[in-house]
Amino acid sequence: MIKEIIVKTALSPSKLPGLDYALNPYRGCQHACVYCYATSVIHWEKGKWGDIVEAKINLPRILSKELRVKKKGVVGLGTVTDPYQQAEKKYEITRRCLELLLMHDFPVCIQTKSSLVLRDIDLLKKFSNLEVGITLTTHDDSVREKLEPGASSVEERLHALSELSKNGIKTWVFMGPVMPYLTDFETLTGAISIVKPAYVLVDKLRLKDGVQNSVLGFINEFYPHLTEKYERIFSGEENYFDKILESCANKTLKFKIKSL
Ligand code: SF4
Repeated sequence: MIKEIIVKTALSPSKLPGLDYALNPYRGCQHACVYCYATSVIHWEKGKWGDIVEAKINLPRILSKELRVKKKGVVGLGTVTDPYQQAEKKYEITRRCLELLLMHDFPVCIQTKSSLVLRDIDLLKKFSNLEVGITLTTHDDSVREKLEPGASSVEERLHALSELSKNGIKTWVFMGPVMPYLTDFETLTGAISIVKPAYVLVDKLRLKDGVQNSVLGFINEFYPHLTEKYERIFSGEENYFDKILESCANKTLKFKIKSL
Protein backbone atom coordinates (compact mmCIF):
# COMPACT_ATOMS: atom_id res chain seq x y z
CA MET A 1 0.00 0.00 0.00
CA ILE A 2 1.26 3.47 -0.83
CA LYS A 3 0.27 6.42 1.30
CA GLU A 4 0.91 9.99 0.18
CA ILE A 5 2.37 12.26 2.83
CA ILE A 6 3.42 15.90 3.13
CA VAL A 7 6.83 16.73 4.61
CA LYS A 8 8.33 19.94 6.00
CA THR A 9 12.00 19.30 5.25
CA ALA A 10 13.92 17.62 2.46
CA LEU A 11 17.68 17.53 3.11
CA SER A 12 18.90 16.26 6.46
CA PRO A 13 22.53 16.29 7.67
CA SER A 14 24.25 12.94 7.10
CA LYS A 15 26.98 11.30 9.15
CA LEU A 16 27.61 8.65 6.52
CA PRO A 17 31.14 8.80 5.07
CA GLY A 18 31.39 11.03 2.01
CA LEU A 19 27.88 12.47 2.38
CA ASP A 20 26.84 15.91 3.63
CA TYR A 21 23.09 15.44 3.25
CA ALA A 22 20.58 12.60 3.10
CA LEU A 23 17.55 12.82 0.84
CA ASN A 24 14.89 10.11 1.09
CA PRO A 25 11.93 10.45 -1.32
CA TYR A 26 9.99 7.69 0.44
CA ARG A 27 9.47 6.53 3.99
CA GLY A 28 9.49 2.75 4.08
CA CYS A 29 10.76 0.47 1.35
CA GLN A 30 9.02 -2.06 -0.88
CA HIS A 31 12.20 -4.08 -1.34
CA ALA A 32 11.58 -5.52 2.15
CA CYS A 33 15.11 -6.84 2.66
CA VAL A 34 15.39 -9.34 5.51
CA TYR A 35 18.47 -7.62 6.95
CA CYS A 36 17.19 -4.03 6.69
CA TYR A 37 17.90 -1.90 9.73
CA ALA A 38 16.24 1.27 8.39
CA THR A 39 13.27 0.35 10.60
CA SER A 40 15.31 1.23 13.70
CA VAL A 41 16.80 4.38 12.13
CA ILE A 42 13.44 5.89 11.21
CA HIS A 43 11.53 4.32 14.14
CA TRP A 44 9.07 2.49 11.90
CA GLU A 45 5.88 1.48 13.67
CA LYS A 46 3.44 1.20 10.76
CA GLY A 47 3.21 -2.53 10.24
CA LYS A 48 5.35 -5.04 8.39
CA TRP A 49 8.33 -3.44 6.66
CA GLY A 50 7.72 -3.43 2.93
CA ASP A 51 3.91 -3.54 3.10
CA ILE A 52 3.36 0.20 3.50
CA VAL A 53 5.33 2.98 1.85
CA GLU A 54 4.85 6.67 2.32
CA ALA A 55 5.49 8.81 -0.76
CA LYS A 56 6.68 12.34 0.09
CA ILE A 57 4.67 13.99 -2.64
CA ASN A 58 5.69 17.60 -1.87
CA LEU A 59 9.40 16.78 -1.50
CA PRO A 60 10.53 18.42 -4.77
CA ARG A 61 8.85 21.68 -3.79
CA ILE A 62 10.55 21.72 -0.38
CA LEU A 63 13.87 20.68 -1.89
CA SER A 64 13.66 23.49 -4.41
CA LYS A 65 13.44 26.05 -1.59
CA GLU A 66 16.23 24.44 0.41
CA LEU A 67 18.65 24.25 -2.51
CA ARG A 68 18.51 28.01 -2.86
CA VAL A 69 19.88 28.54 0.66
CA LYS A 70 21.81 25.40 1.65
CA LYS A 71 25.59 25.23 1.38
CA LYS A 72 26.59 22.99 -1.50
CA GLY A 73 27.45 19.44 -0.40
CA VAL A 74 27.16 15.81 -1.44
CA VAL A 75 23.59 14.54 -1.32
CA GLY A 76 23.08 10.84 -0.58
CA LEU A 77 19.91 9.85 -2.39
CA GLY A 78 18.28 6.96 -0.57
CA THR A 79 20.03 6.37 2.76
CA VAL A 80 17.08 4.73 4.56
CA THR A 81 14.91 3.80 1.59
CA ASP A 82 15.47 2.81 -2.02
CA PRO A 83 14.93 5.85 -4.27
CA TYR A 84 14.06 3.54 -7.19
CA GLN A 85 11.61 1.17 -5.48
CA GLN A 86 8.39 0.32 -7.34
CA ALA A 87 6.51 3.40 -6.09
CA GLU A 88 8.96 5.59 -8.01
CA LYS A 89 7.58 4.28 -11.32
CA LYS A 90 4.34 6.08 -10.55
CA TYR A 91 5.42 9.06 -8.42
CA GLU A 92 8.75 10.06 -10.02
CA ILE A 93 9.74 11.94 -6.85
CA THR A 94 13.36 10.83 -7.18
CA ARG A 95 13.47 11.99 -10.77
CA ARG A 96 12.04 15.41 -9.94
CA CYS A 97 14.52 15.80 -7.07
CA LEU A 98 17.35 14.91 -9.44
CA GLU A 99 16.22 17.59 -11.88
CA LEU A 100 16.50 20.16 -9.09
CA LEU A 101 19.86 18.90 -7.84
CA LEU A 102 21.15 19.09 -11.39
CA MET A 103 19.87 22.64 -11.80
CA HIS A 104 21.76 23.68 -8.65
CA ASP A 105 24.82 21.55 -9.51
CA PHE A 106 24.84 19.62 -6.22
CA PRO A 107 27.06 16.50 -6.11
CA VAL A 108 24.94 13.36 -5.76
CA CYS A 109 25.54 9.80 -4.61
CA ILE A 110 22.74 7.33 -5.34
CA GLN A 111 22.44 3.87 -3.86
CA THR A 112 19.86 1.42 -5.16
CA LYS A 113 18.94 -2.21 -5.74
CA SER A 114 16.73 -1.40 -8.68
CA SER A 115 17.33 -1.27 -12.41
CA LEU A 116 14.70 1.49 -12.61
CA VAL A 117 17.70 3.83 -12.19
CA LEU A 118 18.28 3.29 -15.93
CA ARG A 119 15.13 5.31 -16.66
CA ASP A 120 17.00 8.44 -15.50
CA ILE A 121 20.23 7.98 -17.45
CA ASP A 122 19.40 11.07 -19.49
CA LEU A 123 19.60 13.16 -16.30
CA LEU A 124 22.38 11.28 -14.55
CA LYS A 125 24.86 11.82 -17.34
CA LYS A 126 24.43 15.59 -17.20
CA PHE A 127 25.74 15.92 -13.62
CA SER A 128 29.27 17.22 -13.11
CA ASN A 129 29.66 15.09 -9.96
CA LEU A 130 27.48 12.02 -9.52
CA GLU A 131 27.97 8.36 -8.79
CA VAL A 132 25.61 5.41 -8.61
CA GLY A 133 26.10 2.50 -6.24
CA ILE A 134 24.28 -0.75 -6.86
CA THR A 135 23.95 -3.23 -4.03
CA LEU A 136 24.71 -6.89 -4.64
CA THR A 137 24.56 -9.38 -1.79
CA THR A 138 24.58 -12.63 -3.73
CA HIS A 139 25.12 -13.92 -7.26
CA ASP A 140 22.30 -16.46 -6.81
CA ASP A 141 18.89 -15.09 -7.69
CA SER A 142 17.09 -17.85 -5.80
CA VAL A 143 18.72 -16.49 -2.63
CA ARG A 144 18.04 -12.89 -3.70
CA GLU A 145 14.31 -13.61 -4.16
CA LYS A 146 14.02 -14.62 -0.52
CA LEU A 147 16.44 -12.05 0.89
CA GLU A 148 15.40 -8.93 -1.06
CA PRO A 149 11.99 -9.91 -2.47
CA GLY A 150 10.99 -6.54 -3.94
CA ALA A 151 14.33 -5.62 -5.51
CA SER A 152 15.60 -6.20 -9.05
CA SER A 153 17.17 -9.52 -9.94
CA VAL A 154 20.94 -10.02 -9.83
CA GLU A 155 21.06 -10.04 -13.63
CA GLU A 156 19.11 -6.78 -13.88
CA ARG A 157 21.45 -5.08 -11.42
CA LEU A 158 24.56 -6.24 -13.26
CA HIS A 159 22.98 -5.02 -16.48
CA ALA A 160 22.24 -1.65 -14.84
CA LEU A 161 25.88 -1.31 -13.78
CA SER A 162 27.04 -2.09 -17.27
CA GLU A 163 24.63 0.38 -18.92
CA LEU A 164 25.50 3.17 -16.49
CA SER A 165 29.21 2.68 -17.17
CA LYS A 166 28.63 2.65 -20.92
CA ASN A 167 26.97 6.04 -20.50
CA GLY A 168 30.00 7.47 -18.72
CA ILE A 169 28.43 7.42 -15.25
CA LYS A 170 30.72 6.53 -12.35
CA THR A 171 29.51 3.35 -10.62
CA TRP A 172 30.41 1.41 -7.52
CA VAL A 173 29.09 -1.74 -5.93
CA PHE A 174 27.92 -2.09 -2.38
CA MET A 175 28.56 -5.72 -1.52
CA GLY A 176 26.66 -5.91 1.67
CA PRO A 177 25.69 -7.15 3.93
CA VAL A 178 27.87 -10.17 3.25
CA MET A 179 25.61 -13.07 4.23
CA PRO A 180 27.76 -15.86 5.67
CA TYR A 181 27.69 -19.03 3.55
CA LEU A 182 25.14 -17.48 1.18
CA THR A 183 27.26 -14.77 -0.44
CA ASP A 184 29.61 -16.74 -2.69
CA PHE A 185 32.42 -14.22 -2.67
CA GLU A 186 34.39 -15.74 -5.55
CA THR A 187 31.46 -16.00 -7.96
CA LEU A 188 30.01 -12.63 -7.06
CA THR A 189 33.28 -10.73 -7.40
CA GLY A 190 33.90 -12.53 -10.70
CA ALA A 191 30.57 -11.23 -12.04
CA ILE A 192 31.21 -7.74 -10.68
CA SER A 193 34.68 -7.48 -12.21
CA ILE A 194 33.14 -7.82 -15.69
CA VAL A 195 31.10 -4.62 -15.26
CA LYS A 196 34.12 -2.69 -13.94
CA PRO A 197 32.83 -0.48 -11.11
CA ALA A 198 35.16 2.21 -9.74
CA TYR A 199 35.28 0.33 -6.43
CA VAL A 200 33.48 -2.24 -4.30
CA LEU A 201 32.40 -1.30 -0.80
CA VAL A 202 32.17 -4.38 1.42
CA ASP A 203 30.09 -4.51 4.56
CA LYS A 204 29.42 -7.23 7.07
CA LEU A 205 26.06 -8.23 8.46
CA ARG A 206 25.22 -5.73 11.18
CA LEU A 207 23.05 -6.79 14.04
CA LYS A 208 21.20 -3.66 14.97
CA ASP A 209 17.84 -3.75 16.74
CA GLY A 210 15.64 -6.51 15.43
CA VAL A 211 17.97 -7.51 12.58
CA GLN A 212 19.40 -10.55 14.36
CA ASN A 213 15.92 -12.03 14.93
CA SER A 214 14.83 -11.26 11.40
CA VAL A 215 17.95 -12.87 9.89
CA LEU A 216 17.78 -15.93 12.17
CA GLY A 217 14.09 -16.37 11.31
CA PHE A 218 15.00 -16.23 7.61
CA ILE A 219 17.84 -18.75 8.03
CA ASN A 220 15.62 -21.08 10.06
CA GLU A 221 12.91 -20.98 7.43
CA PHE A 222 14.96 -21.29 4.24
CA TYR A 223 18.43 -22.56 5.19
CA PRO A 224 18.03 -24.49 8.47
CA HIS A 225 21.33 -26.31 7.89
CA LEU A 226 23.04 -22.91 8.47
CA THR A 227 21.28 -22.06 11.73
CA GLU A 228 24.06 -23.35 13.97
CA LYS A 229 26.71 -21.57 11.92
CA TYR A 230 24.84 -18.26 12.13
CA GLU A 231 24.40 -18.64 15.86
CA ARG A 232 28.16 -19.16 16.22
CA ILE A 233 28.82 -16.00 14.21
CA PHE A 234 26.25 -13.97 16.13
CA SER A 235 27.68 -15.12 19.45
CA GLY A 236 31.20 -14.13 18.37
CA GLU A 237 32.53 -17.73 18.38
CA GLU A 238 33.36 -17.48 14.69
CA ASN A 239 34.70 -14.39 12.93
CA TYR A 240 33.43 -15.08 9.44
CA PHE A 241 34.09 -11.55 8.26
CA ASP A 242 37.89 -11.89 8.69
CA LYS A 243 37.84 -14.59 6.01
CA ILE A 244 36.07 -12.20 3.65
CA LEU A 245 38.65 -9.48 4.26
CA GLU A 246 41.41 -11.94 3.35
CA SER A 247 39.61 -12.70 0.08
CA CYS A 248 39.37 -8.97 -0.69
CA ALA A 249 43.14 -8.65 -0.49
CA ASN A 250 43.56 -11.16 -3.32
CA LYS A 251 41.39 -9.48 -5.91
CA THR A 252 42.06 -7.13 -8.78
CA LEU A 253 38.95 -5.09 -7.96
CA LYS A 254 39.46 -2.05 -5.74
CA PHE A 255 37.86 -2.84 -2.39
CA LYS A 256 36.89 -0.51 0.41
CA ILE A 257 35.75 -1.93 3.73
CA LYS A 258 32.90 -0.19 5.47
CA SER A 259 34.07 0.50 8.99
CA LEU A 260 31.22 2.33 10.67
S1 SF4 B 1 16.66 -1.52 -0.15
FE1 SF4 B 1 17.63 -0.68 1.67
S2 SF4 B 1 16.04 0.47 2.71
FE2 SF4 B 1 15.03 -0.86 1.25
S3 SF4 B 1 14.48 -2.67 2.44
FE3 SF4 B 1 16.44 -3.05 1.44
S4 SF4 B 1 18.00 -2.48 2.96
FE4 SF4 B 1 16.03 -1.56 3.60
